[in-house]
Amino acid sequence: MTHEYDAVVIGGGAAGLNGALMLARSRRSVLVLDAGEPRNAPAQAVHGLLARDGMPPAELLERGRDEVRRYGGQVEPAEVPAARAVEDRTDGPGFEVDLTDGRTIGARRLLLATGLTDELPDVAGLRDRWGRDVVHCPYCHGWEVRDRAIGVLATSPMAIHHALLFHQLSADVTLFTHTAPPPSAEDAERLAALGIPLVDGPVAGLEITDDRITGVRLADGTVVAREVVAVAPRMVARAAFLTTLGLATEENPMGVYVPTDPAGRTAVPGVWAAGNITDLSAQVGAAASAGALAGAQINADLAMEDARRAVASRAEASEAGLPA
Ligand SMILES: Cc1cc2nc3c(=O)[nH]c(=O)nc-3n(C[C@H](O)[C@H](O)[C@H](O)COP(=O)(O)OP(=O)(O)OC[C@H]3O[C@@H](n4cnc5c(N)ncnc54)[C@H](O)[C@@H]3O)c2cc1C
Repeated sequence: MTHEYDAVVIGGGAAGLNGALMLARSRRSVLVLDAGEPRNAPAQAVHGLLARDGMPPAELLERGRDEVRRYGGQVEPAEVPAARAVEDRTDGPGFEVDLTDGRTIGARRLLLATGLTDELPDVAGLRDRWGRDVVHCPYCHGWEVRDRAIGVLATSPMAIHHALLFHQLSADVTLFTHTAPPPSAEDAERLAALGIPLVDGPVAGLEITDDRITGVRLADGTVVAREVVAVAPRMVARAAFLTTLGLATEENPMGVYVPTDPAGRTAVPGVWAAGNITDLSAQVGAAASAGALAGAQINADLAMEDARRAVASRAEASEAGLPA
């Protein structure tokens, strides 16, 4: 191990970079390690983000990296396979972070900001078109698919809600029940009143013509003409390296996440988490905001530790009869 940073940030998306920005501006030594695969990479633009609406995701992060570096923060392309607490520390928590290139980096505090993986239903063609005409979020790309023929692919009862949100954007919405249970009588009445037809039966794949969705194909071969498919993925925190840290994940109806307190503090002292790894529904603005809060909390925690260290070394100096 060559160097101990005040903080190492694992993951350089909106959450990690905003956390690093707060730390670097507080004159903390901070290193961001980023594998370079932000969740929204397939999308053409970031939407719904005040003052940056429409900016390509890669450009937003490039600007973020520049801002962190402007204050002395380091950002490196690197993947972290494991991180662990240093056991025998007496002056506060400390960590070792392994990199896939064989290096090990030291850190007084960790910010986990590795985001999540979207697990899509096993339907042919969905993954290839993810972030283009297969969409999940009415706020991210709903406006862009307004007035189009939208098929909502159900995988859980939450799909009813999904269909209502997309109906706000297009009058032509069809709900495919696929693997979800049939809607309750109350939901069926809501869908009927809004003019959202139900198509029963498992979906087998998408029909593609000239690089565009033209239909949804059912297992029985029926094709229903559609231009856009909306589907809610199962969202799973990218947290494989967490086991060595002793951190556990939890599950809710949307997926798997790392639990934290409202300021991003995890169950392991010295480790914070921010963004999609802990808040599955966070969009870019919320992820950045959570990262900034966690960065500030880490700085405050380090300030207390620095003060404790100063008191201890003053006491030692006084015991030894040295000037404080
Ligand atoms: C198709 C699509 C479109 C979207 N459009 C929008 C939109 O228009 N507006 C909006 O607000 N939100 C949008 N979102 C949501 C947005 O992607 C998330 O809110 C945002 O990416 C969360 O930021 P994050 O920093 O938590 O994670 P991410 O942006 O996913 O960043 C995590 C980073 O950590 C890295 N990483 C992971 N594991 C490791 C590891 N072990 N070691 C090192 N690095 C690692 C990853 O490679 C990645 O670079 C969209 C999502 C999708 C799927």
